[in-house]
Amino acid sequence: MTTQTQEATRYPVGGSSLITVRCPADGRAVGTVPDMTPAQVHEVAAGLRSAQLEWEDLGPAGRAKHIRRFLDWVFDNEDRLIGIMQEETGKSWGDAAVETAVVVDTINYYTQHAAGFLADRRVKRWGPTALTKNLRIFTRPHQLVGIITPWNGPLATPIIDGIPALMAGAAVLFKPSEVTPLTWTEATRGWIDEVKAPPVMACVTGGGATGAAVVDEVDMIQFTGSTATGRKIAARAGERLIPHSVELGGKDAMIVLDDADLDRATSGAVWGGLWNSGQICVSVERIYVQDKVYDEFVRKLTGKVKGLRQGMDPDGSYATEIGAMATERQLQIVERHVTDAVERGASPVTGGKRTSEGLFFEPTVLTDVDHSMLCMREETFGPTLPVMKVRDEEEAIRLANDSPYGLAASVWSGSAERADRVARRLETGAVNINSALTATMLLVLPMGGWKSSGVGGRNGGAAGILKFCRQQAIVSERFRLKSEPFWYPYVPRTSRLQARLMRLVGAHDWRRRLGLRGRK
Ligand code: NAD
Repeated sequence: MTTQTQEATRYPVGGSSLITVRCPADGRAVGTVPDMTPAQVHEVAAGLRSAQLEWEDLGPAGRAKHIRRFLDWVFDNEDRLIGIMQEETGKSWGDAAVETAVVVDTINYYTQHAAGFLADRRVKRWGPTALTKNLRIFTRPHQLVGIITPWNGPLATPIIDGIPALMAGAAVLFKPSEVTPLTWTEATRGWIDEVKAPPVMACVTGGGATGAAVVDEVDMIQFTGSTATGRKIAARAGERLIPHSVELGGKDAMIVLDDADLDRATSGAVWGGLWNSGQICVSVERIYVQDKVYDEFVRKLTGKVKGLRQGMDPDGSYATEIGAMATERQLQIVERHVTDAVERGASPVTGGKRTSEGLFFEPTVLTDVDHSMLCMREETFGPTLPVMKVRDEEEAIRLANDSPYGLAASVWSGSAERADRVARRLETGAVNINSALTATMLLVLPMGGWKSSGVGGRNGGAAGILKFCRQQAIVSERFRLKSEPFWYPYVPRTSRLQARLMRLVGAHDWRRRLGLRGRK
């Protein structure tokens, strides 16, 4: 296993205390970063602002060159980056390795498409005012974008928003989680010291206070994390009147109908619910299975979960599937949900407890669950699969929608029409049919939570980059006119004629068009 002790000294550290990062698998200290003060955040932000204009002037093609070189650097350092990530998260090697795939996909997508997404746009005329005008939209980035991220995806989460923000021409101030700051600190060092790209991305480290200082510095804030923190950030962004996009928690439901392919559905549940030890916002958190196939589903699911290997496996070995929980606090939430469920009558068919060493929680299948239990109502963010029997589609939809969250869901059925019918009635920002987690990985589709799962969204083709931009409406002359029809002075005859024309063109029936009815 790679041992990395990171002393993050790239940015001003005077006066900061240090945060020690520990490996969840064995408690080893694997690095330290400064707990940066608001004054230090301000200093970093000022540096980014001074570099931004030159970056914007490079244009999409110029910016893409640097970002592609950064991708080369990620490829050249892939195992080392996965090693750092594994040490600070306790993930299995395979789970950690998926994050570099996200880097590749995101960089290639936005570097190829940004020029088209950001190009000046001509707009089709509408209305009498536009008759004499040319209409266009210019796009300019927000100068400084802040990106605050949680601990579950230390490489992938900064990337999925950071790359479109950089490609838009913004400078980006990142604040990774204090639990897992090492991977992104190293990625930022690579950008500056090894890729020698312009100093338009920086990483400040620290806890909530450092994050709050980021919100106070930037022109647009992109936040990924818990709903509780998201509310605070949205409130502060509202006070500052800066745009914000907050991607928050979820309680994703999986609905298995009686015509589903149960082999596929159970494999999907295992991966969709237990990938990254269930510590992913769009994880399958609760499963509703139609009564006719319930027993067979539980039997197949349990068999597959029992076959999983747990632990933090050696570099490049792909020897385990399920890694550790990132923090003791998160592990305790999982324990509390399982204990609560069992006390209220649920049965842990497999798993159900923490292991003796490290922050591992056994992959767990719970049956006999209902909505009185925490595991069906609150975000667990752990390796648990609670399965509930339902009568029919109606009951499944009602229970799936019985949640304050609305991030994503999945529907499993042999009938495309039936699956669509159920999907349309789910109150979530995405629905995967016969798959799990997939919509989140598709940059061409929007990813945004409904209800308490977020405001705004990410990805979605052009929308994924335009959210980091300001749009400028440009109205220019189509003909050279001395005056405009509505300009002063009012001339009674002309103004009356204009009013008649407005009726003629704008009313929906002939009597009103001709002024024969509708006047009081
Ligand atoms: P968290 O809200 O505790 O922390 C997230 C980040 O916010 C950290 O960097 C933290 O330091 C920072 N922060 C804390 N208080 C702050 C404040 N007042 N102002 C500014 N920044 C502040 O979340 P977490 O426990 O790290 O992550 C787990 C949560 O993230 C889960 O709820 C999960 O569902 C959610 N999540 C959502 C998505 C999504 O795309 N919807 C993706 C991944 C994780």
